[in-house]
Order: sequence, then structure tokens, then C-alpha cells
Amino acid sequence: MIIGTEPVLSVRNLSTRFMTSSGTVKAVDGVSFDVRKGEIFGIVGESGSGKSVTNLSILRLIPMPPGQIAEGEIMLYGKNLLAANEHELQMVRGGSISMIFQDPMTSLNPLLRVSLQIAEALELHHGLSRKEAEKKAVELLKAVGIPDAERRAQEYPHQFSGGMRQRVMIAMAIGCNPDLLIADEPTTALDVTIQAQILDLIRRLSDTRTMSVILVTHDLGVVAGMCDTVAVMYAGKIVEQASVDPLFREPKHPYTQGLLASVPRIDRAWSERLYSIPGAPPNLVDLPPGCAFAPRCEHAMPICSQSYPPQIEMDDGSGNKRTVRCWLHADNVPGVHR
Ligand code: SF4
Repeated sequence: MIIGTEPVLSVRNLSTRFMTSSGTVKAVDGVSFDVRKGEIFGIVGESGSGKSVTNLSILRLIPMPPGQIAEGEIMLYGKNLLAANEHELQMVRGGSISMIFQDPMTSLNPLLRVSLQIAEALELHHGLSRKEAEKKAVELLKAVGIPDAERRAQEYPHQFSGGMRQRVMIAMAIGCNPDLLIADEPTTALDVTIQAQILDLIRRLSDTRTMSVILVTHDLGVVAGMCDTVAVMYAGKIVEQASVDPLFREPKHPYTQGLLASVPRIDRAWSERLYSIPGAPPNLVDLPPGCAFAPRCEHAMPICSQSYPPQIEMDDGSGNKRTVRCWLHADNVPGVHR
């Protein structure tokens, strides 16, 4: 449920690189987007498209070196996180912005009871005593649907199932009432029934707390069911961004069209061969000069491999703006007369 038009988070021209022995990897290249209050903003794309690096850059969790945030602005309520000092960042991490990851087992400390792990952030950010924080931890475990929360709070992560561990992570993440929750592939490691429960929980928490969410996924079904707005990433750039309905109804970028055509559909004959995008994602150390999708694109024109397409803005049919980076939608294409 989006409230107002002012962004909670505004990312502008973000570029993150990694210096490797093979060369400079342009993992994120000139990415811009806004997330409004209560909005669920989906980021989709293949592995290596820059989804996770974008989100790690927002919280400045990129290992530096070899990583480097080369340029850009990350504004949280108008304050640039790239200019924040370490103390200010610590207050943001787990305070205004929380993050949950794909595999909760690697994010939880196996040696600490879960109540202590939840309590830690509450002591740091809200100044609660250990006793108060552990009491609040039990309330949070109840809020995310963990039965018998008083007893389970005293247990260790290995005593929880995968779905219950992800609920513990969500309890930790919402403990300080964040303005923004970043969920990076939160259900990939879970089976489908538990996936649906966790996604439903995130949606409910976003609605009841008017909490904004950035949801990173490669699952277009999850995007369709959860998100208000979607950004499609390819080779470190956002190639298309729109409200969810117009994007699914009428994808404009050939890469988005290919992703949607690759999803199995119940109304297709079982004998029909499932579409797959030809080729493989490019090497981010050695990107082609023009559109990085050109070697895989069936609509490629000569200009596509010479010059990177500009960002085209258009109305998405519901009064909202959509953007697409593709020469097919440019009014003036050098060398082409329409
Ligand atoms: Fe295809 Fe050209 Fe559009 Fe790139 S710019 S997606 S190569 S048509």
C-alpha cells in the first residue's frame, strides 16, 4: 500500500565496481530508482545482473577492497548514506533499514539463543535493558507466527526448521520498526508452501506497518503476486522499470519479454517447448560497447552494438511513469528513418 509520492529511499546513478585480477567488474552501472512509503519494489534479473550488489551498496556492505562504490547518491529521507560516517551507518543498519538474506542459517549465530540475537539490536537501537529486550523478542516471535514463542525464544537456530528460521530473521529485521526492509531472495531456500507463508507474512507486515520493501528475486511469479513496482536488471543496469500490471501486460524491453516468455504457463499445451533466451549473460569485465543484450536480442539493429540506448520515459497507461532502455523505443535512432 503506497502512501504519498515522496520517496523513503532514492538511489541515483549508483555505480559499484570490483577490482579483480581479470579486470574491473562493473557490477552495478548507473542505477537509479525511488522507493515510496509502503511500496514493495521488486528487483528481478538473472544471477550476476547486479540485484544483490545494488542492495549491499545501499547499506555499504560491499567489501572494500576489492569493491568500490564509484559514484552515485543513496538518499534515505534526504540524507546521503554514501556520505555517512561509520556510527551513522550503524544506526541505519538494523534501525531505519533492515535486511534479510536467502539462507537464514548463515545469518544467525549458531551459538546464541534466538532471543539474545533478536534482543541485541533492540538494546543497541532502542536502549532497552537485556530483560526488556528479551521480553520484546518474544512479542516479535509471536508477531511473525512462531507458536509457543516463550519456549522457542530460548532455543538455538539449529532447533528451528528453515521456514521458522526465516521467521526469526524477519522478527530480528522488524524489531526496530524499520522504514525499509531489504529482502534478498528471502524464499529461495524454502519449499513452495513455506515460501507462500513467508511472502504473505512480508506483505502483511508491509501493510500493517506501512513499511517499504525492496524484494530481490529471480521468480517472476513472486513479483506478480507481491510487488507494486518492478525494476528489471541486466548486466548491472536497470533496463526496464514500471508498475507491476503494465509490465506484465505489455513488457517493452526484449529482455523483459524473454523473461516472461520463459515462465511456464498453465494455458499452454504440455508438449509445447518452453522458450529460453538464447546465449548467456555477458562478461561484466568486458562489456560490449552498445547494448549488453545485443548478442542475445532477436530485434538487434546495427546501432545496438555501437551505442548504448538512452533511457526512454513513457506513461505506463495508469498515469505512472515507466522507463525502458532500448533503441526500439527511441524516437530518433541514428541511421534509421521511421
Ligand atoms: Fe535489443 Fe537493441 Fe533494444 Fe538492446 S537496444 S534490447 S539489442 S533492440
